[in-house]
Amino acid sequence: MKLQTESIGSIPRPIELIEAMQAGLPAEQLDQLYDKAVRQTLLELENTGSPVLTDGEQTKSSFATYPLSGVDMIVPGGMRIDFADGHFRQLPLLKKTPFRFGEFAGSYLAKAQSCTDMPLKQAVISASALSLIYPADGMEGYSQPEFISDLIDESEKDIRSCLEKGAHKVQIDFTEGRLSLKLDPSGGVLRHFIALNNQVLARFSEEEKARIGVHVCPGGDRDSTHSADVDYADLLAELFNLDVRNFYLQLASEPDRVKVLKAIKENLKPNQFVFVGVIDVLNPVVETAEEVRDRVLEAAQYIPLAQLGTTDDCGFSPFADDVSTSRETAFAKIKARIDGTRLAEEQLFA
Ligand SMILES: [Zn+2]
Repeated sequence: MKLQTESIGSIPRPIELIEAMQAGLPAEQLDQLYDKAVRQTLLELENTGSPVLTDGEQTKSSFATYPLSGVDMIVPGGMRIDFADGHFRQLPLLKKTPFRFGEFAGSYLAKAQSCTDMPLKQAVISASALSLIYPADGMEGYSQPEFISDLIDESEKDIRSCLEKGAHKVQIDFTEGRLSLKLDPSGGVLRHFIALNNQVLARFSEEEKARIGVHVCPGGDRDSTHSADVDYADLLAELFNLDVRNFYLQLASEPDRVKVLKAIKENLKPNQFVFVGVIDVLNPVVETAEEVRDRVLEAAQYIPLAQLGTTDDCGFSPFADDVSTSRETAFAKIKARIDGTRLAEEQLFA
């Protein structure tokens, strides 16, 4: 395809897998279900015509907490993230030191690679999100700067574990970017998050950075958001200071897309590439290919074609237990993105 198009990452898990996870089946039985879910997801994504696949995050506990899988260094009770519909998610707190990942995203990629020859992208969590697990009142014998130093090392290893295995792209999930402006409208926390993530990114070559991207959105869990009420333009004014080359931006669900596109145009740097969201993952109605085409044509009025691609607004279920969207709907929406992007290509490259 002339216009690049990629998914964000997560696909709703099969119901039988969610039930098995909740029932706490033995690891061996769970592994069989994970294996089946990954294979089915890759196959169904390929059937949509997607040029780049993901494993649908079928085996991740959530987009944010996978590095903490199986470690005994955390306890419940960390930062609470409130969603517009009244539900909340809560981060864990670090209890043991030194901080180390229990799982690196490259392991998910390796598993998916054993099931397909298609290009695969892999999502990783930002260092800034994980920085929130350090207790506010500090830790005995382990200062915050020591923690941050370990965190940067581990986040670099996480991204490298994917690049070294040949990931088509590595996408850093940075949903707390927009949320930070709700907690601190001055932008101080946002700039701090960007500076922290740039410390990780500084460890990569220009060649490697061409394959690294970042995803932002107002959150997407149980068809609700945590920061859609924050002005997107305020985030975009800072976001492009992140030293990555690819930006995966929620856009379809914005009430005023043109305003957002103008803010992207104003802040986008010449060496940066934007994948705009043309699928609203929180709306159960499946877009038509023509609707998608029109969203791409709209974006092309503001973003140079050489810097424009398409994506979905977010993953379809960033948390493993989210059943608000069916797998059928997710694949139908992805197919609409592929078909609509092709229709737009026919006009834009005619
Ligand atoms: Zn998202």
